[in-house]
Amino acid sequence: MKIFNTLTRSKEEFKPINKDIINMYVCGPTVYDLFHIGNARTFIFFDCVRRYLEYKGYSVNFIQNFTDIDDKIINKSLQENKTIYEISDKYIEEYYIDSDSLNIKRATQNPRATDYLNEIIELISELMDNRFAYEIDGNVYFSIREFRSYGKLFGQDLNTLKSGSRIKINENKKDALDFILWKKNKGEEPGYNSPWGVGRPGWHTECCSMIYKYFDGNTIDIHGGGMDLIFPHHENEIAQIEALGNKKLANYWMHCSFLNMNNEKMSKSLGNFLTVREVLNVYNPNVIRFFLLSVHYRNNISFSNLHMESAKKSLARIKKSYVNLINIKSCNNADSDNYLDEIKKYYAKFINKMEDDFNTSDAISVIFEFIKYINRFANSFNRLEVMESIKIFKNFFDIFGLEYGDNNVDCKNLEDDIKDMVIQRLEFKQKRQFDKSDLIRSELEKKGYILEDIKGGTRILDTNDNNLIYTVLL
Ligand code: AMP
Ligand code: ZN
Repeated sequence: MKIFNTLTRSKEEFKPINKDIINMYVCGPTVYDLFHIGNARTFIFFDCVRRYLEYKGYSVNFIQNFTDIDDKIINKSLQENKTIYEISDKYIEEYYIDSDSLNIKRATQNPRATDYLNEIIELISELMDNRFAYEIDGNVYFSIREFRSYGKLFGQDLNTLKSGSRIKINENKKDALDFILWKKNKGEEPGYNSPWGVGRPGWHTECCSMIYKYFDGNTIDIHGGGMDLIFPHHENEIAQIEALGNKKLANYWMHCSFLNMNNEKMSKSLGNFLTVREVLNVYNPNVIRFFLLSVHYRNNISFSNLHMESAKKSLARIKKSYVNLINIKSCNNADSDNYLDEIKKYYAKFINKMEDDFNTSDAISVIFEFIKYINRFANSFNRLEVMESIKIFKNFFDIFGLEYGDNNVDCKNLEDDIKDMVIQRLEFKQKRQFDKSDLIRSELEKKGYILEDIKGGTRILDTNDNNLIYTVLL
């Protein structure tokens, strides 16, 4: 399996550190509001990475933090006259509601920054002891000029970074790019005791302290987040951990591109956002996931109703094919496996696309090629071939996190008396009593069922959307 590693800017063969367990960390949300569909893109993509690794047989130790102390949370708590914990507790709960609705698997653990203050203070103290950090008036900064390889993730050397930097020169800092590790408490803000006085941790310190603590100072396999986190957030994480001569922080750095709206990155600060909850009011979670995974994760995706509608149609086509298949499951008993090799080729092709840096977009194209194939030949498949075809769909659904199990196919449950009427009609037809069989057909039509005769049976379609509901075979 190949992964594009931001650190080397190339696709590399994935070599896990342990045989069976993958350790991965993905930066989570700042919990002061509902999350938007742009955030959901990143979360769903990494959920798909995790699902794929699990499909490959790994057990995945998936850690995603909650940033529960930060300016935005403090502002909200002041506006609403609540404690920061009341704000973060509420939005953590809301996060779970929306991410569960989107069928995002819960992380193995979701550590909260404020639960790791001791570790954060320990890390900052160690950096100070080793002269990588300095204190000015209760604020502690990381000194980037002390860490030689600063800029390696972003792919820029220090001079280019400095000249391109729009970071305001802070009189107190030694260097414009030095970043804050511990912020001195101002005014009404909540604060915590530290060797540098009352204050709170900087965001970049929070993630690496948790990773360090969680994974016992060992290198992790994958560190992920959105593209906007490459610089400075992840660059700063590397600096803090690797400056101390510790092991490499992560072997593979993966970054998901943006979801845009009107050609701009969706973000709260720009105001061009839709919360997941708003989108869930209009679209089914499967459609949202399918849409977000339909573009390769390293390309931008633009959100629009038109694109969502087209995703909805594409997914309906996939589902229809799947329903067709499960309906003919036990119908054909041909001995020879005429189609099995070809079906297996489609399966291998689908998996190859996933192996190639999680190319979900091409993987979906393979599914559509496969659908064309089964539309032509499925009625001649024998049982083994049908089962193998179902396996392709099922793995696709599992890896993409789409909810269509055997029992969860989004088709109506057909009452037995309807099935009986269809069978009765077929029997009348066999006896050439066409007036009786026609009567049943028109009765069923009034109830919302269209009958379409096929060799040896009848398909029952929904009058509203022409979707196949059930197939009766005699
Ligand atoms: P935040 O709560 O802003 O820290 O974001 C949480 C995660 O969502 C981070 O990994 C961000 O990089 C990611 N993210 C934020 N906005 C977008 C967007 N428009 N498209 C894709 N990912 C995003
Ligand atoms: Zn982070």
